[in-house]
Amino acid sequence: MNPIRSSELAPPTSPGATTAPARAAAPRTEPAPPHPSRSLVVVSNRLPFTIAQGSGDARFERSPGGLVAALDPALAQRGGVWVGWPGSTDQDHLPAFPDTPAVRYRSVPLSSREVTQYYGVFSNRTLWPLFHYFVGQTHVDPASWAVYDRVNARFGAIAAEESDDDSLVWIHDYQLLRAPLHLRAAAPQRRIAFFLHIPFPAYDVFRVLPWARPLMHGLLAADLVGFHVSDYANHFLTSAERVLGCSVDRARGEVEWDGRVVSVGAFPIGIDVDTIERLSVPAPSADVDQPAMVLGVDRLDYTKGIHERLLAVEHLFERHPEHRRRVVFTQILVPSREHVAEYRALKRQIDETVGRINGRFSDAGWAPIRYQARSLSTVDLVALYRRADVALVTPLRDGMNLVAKEYVAAQLEDDGVVILSEFAGAAQELQEALIVNPLDTQAVATTLHRALTMAPDERHARMAALRDRVRDNPVQRWAGGFLAVAERAAERARRDPPSPADTLLRQLAPWLRERSRIAVFLDYDGTITPIVQRPDLAILSDDTRDALRQAAHAPELDVSIISGRGLGDIRDRVGVAGLTYIGNHGFEIEGPGLSHHPQGLEGYQDNVERAAEALTALEVPGALVERKGATVSYHVRETPEGERRDAERRAGDVIRRHGLRVTRGKMVLEGRPPIAWGKGHAVLYVLSQRYGAEWPSRVRALYLGDDTTDEDAFRSLRGIGRSIYVGPAVAGSHAADFTLPDPAAVIQLLRRLATRAFADLD
Ligand code: UDP
Repeated sequence: MNPIRSSELAPPTSPGATTAPARAAAPRTEPAPPHPSRSLVVVSNRLPFTIAQGSGDARFERSPGGLVAALDPALAQRGGVWVGWPGSTDQDHLPAFPDTPAVRYRSVPLSSREVTQYYGVFSNRTLWPLFHYFVGQTHVDPASWAVYDRVNARFGAIAAEESDDDSLVWIHDYQLLRAPLHLRAAAPQRRIAFFLHIPFPAYDVFRVLPWARPLMHGLLAADLVGFHVSDYANHFLTSAERVLGCSVDRARGEVEWDGRVVSVGAFPIGIDVDTIERLSVPAPSADVDQPAMVLGVDRLDYTKGIHERLLAVEHLFERHPEHRRRVVFTQILVPSREHVAEYRALKRQIDETVGRINGRFSDAGWAPIRYQARSLSTVDLVALYRRADVALVTPLRDGMNLVAKEYVAAQLEDDGVVILSEFAGAAQELQEALIVNPLDTQAVATTLHRALTMAPDERHARMAALRDRVRDNPVQRWAGGFLAVAERAAERARRDPPSPADTLLRQLAPWLRERSRIAVFLDYDGTITPIVQRPDLAILSDDTRDALRQAAHAPELDVSIISGRGLGDIRDRVGVAGLTYIGNHGFEIEGPGLSHHPQGLEGYQDNVERAAEALTALEVPGALVERKGATVSYHVRETPEGERRDAERRAGDVIRRHGLRVTRGKMVLEGRPPIAWGKGHAVLYVLSQRYGAEWPSRVRALYLGDDTTDEDAFRSLRGIGRSIYVGPAVAGSHAADFTLPDPAAVIQLLRRLATRAFADLD
C-alpha cells in the first residue's frame, strides 16, 4: 500500500464511522526523491536492544518487533545511525553494541530520575492516557513536563551531532514530541520527519493538556508529521488551526508555521508479512474434536478493553449455551508497566473476572477461558494464530493494532474471522473484519456468535480480502514509502519558504480585518533592535526607523514603543514623531494626547538614587548600573560567567534593602518602586485612554516583545489582543500567542501592517 497524505484522504468523519479505504490513494505524479541514498538517522526512545543478564557478562540482544523489521532494511540500505536510550541508566557499564554493517548505535544517557519523570510519568501517565481518550486518568505534573522537555532537548542535541544537512532524521513516537523543535533549533536546515505510533486525539481532547501549545511547536518543527490513519492526521490539522491559529491547507495536508510549510499525512503501518507467512507454513492442527478457539492477544493495558472483552465472552456463554464445551476463549496477556498502580489494579480485576466466569461455566474438564499472563515468542504466537478460529481484537483505543494484521497474515488458507474494534486504527483499513463497539458487550457477544457460526463461503471471502490488504502493505514498504514522502516534504519546505512574517500575517489576517484600527506595541531591546553586549550599543537601524516612520503615517496604525529604558532614552533612540513612548516598564507614558506617570512614584525617587549608588559600590567586574529616573537597572551581560550568579544575588539584596521590587530580564536586574504597575498595565491604560473602556470592539491590539518583562503584557492581552514572542521558538514564551524569530521579522510584519497587506489575504 502506498503511503497517503491527507490530500488523498476522505474528510474527517465522526468517531467510529468508517472512512474510505486508506488504500484508495491516487497515483503520485511527483518526481522521485532527489537523494534516495541520503543517510538516515533514526531517533526513538529505546534502541532496538534489550540488555540480557545471562550467567556471564551482560550483553545486548536484539529486540524483535515490527519497527525493527521496518527500519533495519532502510538503515542498511542508506547507512546511518540509530539514536536512543539503551535501557540502562548505568552509562559507564554498557555492553558493546552488536556489529551491524552500515549502522551505528548512539546511546542517549538518562538518569533514573529522568527515566521516571520523562518516561514513567509524562509519557506514560500523561500523554498515553490522554492520547487514548482516557482524560480522567491524565496526570498533570509540571515537574515531569520540565524533565520531559529537558530529555527531549538531549535527544535533539545528540540527533544534531549525529546528522548533517544531507541526512534525513526520522524521530519516532510520543516520548519525543518536543525533539523535532530542539533539533531544529540546533540545526535549522535539517531534514526532519516524525511519526506518531499512537492515536492523535481530537482537538477538544488534545487541548486539555496544559502543554498543548509547546507540544504543537515541537511537532511542527518537522518537515513531515506522519500518523497511522487519516482521522489522526485530521485531528492534528485541526489542532494546528485551533491551538496555534496556523493556516492549514487540508486538501494538500500542509500547515504553515514559523516560516515553513509542514506536511502532514497518514501512513498506516504494516507488519512483517514474510516472517509471519514463513512461520505459518505448517498446517494448523486438524483435530475436529477440539473446541473452537477464540483468541485475544494484548499487552496488559487499560486501552485494550480486556475486561469488557471478558464480559462479552460471558454474555456469549449465557445467551448461547450451545457454545459451552465447544468453544474456548484463550487470552494472552503480556505483562507491562507492572510497577504502575493502575496496571496492577487492572491485572487484579482481570484475574478476578476470569476466575468468576470460569467458576460459573466450567464443566467436567472444560473451562471457558484459558488465560496466560506471559509473553510468547513469535513462533508460538503464530502457532496460536493458526489454531484460532476467531481473533477477538477489541481495544477501547489503539493507534493501529498489529495483532489483527498478524492474525490475518497467518491465515494462509483464507480461513478464520477477525472481530475488530472500531476504535483501533486498523479498522480504517480492515473493513472486511466484523467491526464492533467494544463497550457494547452484548453486541460483541452477538458478533462472536455470528463469527462462530459463519458460513465458510463468507469466512473465505472476508479473509481473502483482508489478506490482500495486509500483504499489500508490508512494514518494509511502509518505511520506504514514508521516507520517500519525507524527502519530498523536506524539499518542498526548502523551496520558496514563506517568510515568518507572512506566515503570521496570514494567521492574523481574518482577526485584523474585523476592526478598522490596529494598535501595535513594540518592545525595544531584542524586539526592534538585536540584543547587544551593552545597552548603549543598541542602536536603531535606518531601515527600522524608516519602517517606524511608515507605520506612524499609516492612518489605521497606532504604534507605541515600550521599554524598560527611561522615557527620554527611548525617545531619543527611536526619534520618530507621532509614536507613543512608554518608558521604565510602563511607569512613564508620553504620546499624542497622552501623558501619564502613576501616582506615588515621587516618594521612591530617593530610594532609586541610593540603590543606584549602592549597586555601583558593589564594584562587580563588567557590571553596569543604569539610572533611569523612576527605576534602576543592573546589567551583568559583561560580567564573567562564573561571577554572574553571585553578582545577581548581591544586587538583588541591595535593591530589596532599599525598599524596591526586584524584577529580572535578560542578564539584567531591575529595581522598581513596589507599585502594582508594569508593561501590561501601561498597554491597557493607553488602549482605554485612547479608545474607551470598550476598546476591544474598536481596535485590534498587538504586542511584540522578547523579554521576561513582556510576559506581563502577553498575559494582560490574552483573549482581548494578540501577543507575539520574538526569539527562537524553543526558548518560547508560554503566554504569547505567536512567535517571530528575530527583529528583522518584526520589521517585515510592521511594514506589511502599514501597507494593509492583510486586507486581501485568504
Ligand atoms: N507480541 C509478542 N508476543 C506476545 C504478544 C504480542 O511478540 O506474547 C507482539 C505481537 O506480535 C505484536 C505486538 O506484540 O507485533 C503487539 O502490537 P500491537 O500493535 O497489537 O499492540 P501494542 O502492544 O503495540 O499496543
